Amino acid sequence: MKTIAEQLQSVYQAIHSFCSSNATAQEVSLLAVSKKHPADAIRQAYNAGQRQFGENYAQEGAEKKAQLADLSDIEWHFIGPVQSNKTQLIVDTFNWVQSVDRGKIARRLSKQRSPALAPLQICLQVNISGETTKSGMAVSEVFALAEQVDALPNLTLRGLMCIGSDNPAHQQQEFTRMQQLFEELKQQYKTVDTLSMGMSGDWQQAINYGATMIRLGTAIFGSRQ
Ligand SMILES: *Cc1c(COP(=O)(O)O)cnc(C)c1O
Repeated sequence: MKTIAEQLQSVYQAIHSFCSSNATAQEVSLLAVSKKHPADAIRQAYNAGQRQFGENYAQEGAEKKAQLADLSDIEWHFIGPVQSNKTQLIVDTFNWVQSVDRGKIARRLSKQRSPALAPLQICLQVNISGETTKSGMAVSEVFALAEQVDALPNLTLRGLMCIGSDNPAHQQQEFTRMQQLFEELKQQYKTVDTLSMGMSGDWQQAINYGATMIRLGTAIFGSRQ
């Protein structure tokens, strides 16, 4: 069995060689998705150089952050569905929320985020596959919500996030559409620089369609219980 440090090195290597052999123009950052893995797994990845971590559950993220209080330069990203009763914990714990998909949630996050902290960095989650089981907003709602988030204090609009469908034929269309939306949004808002797209099974494809951030869990930490 490979250690987390070794897995992470292989992932960095794979991303680097993929980007150089495909002449992808954009820089790609790696979000290590640590949900359902213990704080110690995060510490191992940290010691191997990783700084950006993604969590899906507010309580779980807050507990791990407390256990890792000595690692103060970790950037914590919330990537799970945002429940109204968890927004205070989310704004107190995380640097980014990538899964904002409605105005009500954006307003709560803005209101609860302490102005003494840096603004919360926001991505809008798009339900690009249109599957009813997936969270995120419809494509048609993106620009209206972007306008709201941009106008709210204590939030900075950074871009878009999506989860592609498992069907590779659909995926290509979905990623193409996300790339178009992202380019349009970037034209309108100078703070927008992030297209968070691609997971362990589809990150290469996502980079080909302009992803600037990929979110890998299994490839780094192994399978989850
Ligand atoms: C779990 C999760 C990931 C990572 O998935 P893997 O397939 O383990 O790489 C990425 N993004 C989101 C939103 C997730 O919930």
